[in-house]
Amino acid sequence: MAVERTFSIIKPDATARNLGGAINAMIEKAGLRIVAQKRVLISRAQAETFYGVHRERPFFRELVDFMTSGPVVVQVLEGENAIVRYRDLMGATDPAKAAANTIRKAFAQSIGENSVHGSDAADTAQKEIAQFFSANEIVG
Ligand code: ATP
Ligand code: MG
Repeated sequence: MAVERTFSIIKPDATARNLGGAINAMIEKAGLRIVAQKRVLISRAQAETFYGVHRERPFFRELVDFMTSGPVVVQVLEGENAIVRYRDLMGATDPAKAAANTIRKAFAQSIGENSVHGSDAADTAQKEIAQFFSANEIVG
């Protein structure tokens, strides 16, 4: 199995509750390595680009409002099969449906304010990483 990189965001609901360290501990305990990380405020334009695939969805505006409502921590995670492994660690989008021992089960507040993002495929991971990091900011 190949070593992969995936893109993660610790969302505003989680930074507001000071959960960055607790989420990073779960990431590292799961065997994923944080090879880049920064705390930023994202602009509406950045959020609209990032979640562009959801532009026509009824929750799009709410999603952009939320993602720009406070600081986020953007991250690159590295490990074997990292994309699927991080999705598994995050749990279902709706925390009511998230499995035990997942980040969203532990911390998410609602389907919208669900604490973390993770890339869903190799092509999106590459695009998302490139939106927020230059190559020399990622140190594996
Ligand atoms: P993410 O892309 O953030 O990792 P996901 O892949 O689990 O989450 P998506 O279907 O891509 O889920 O939705 C993107 C984000 O949009 C969700 O994480 C959530 O914050 C928000 N969202 C999704 N569905 C709803 C909804 N029904 N109501 C409000 N917000 C929603
Ligand atoms: Mg998604």
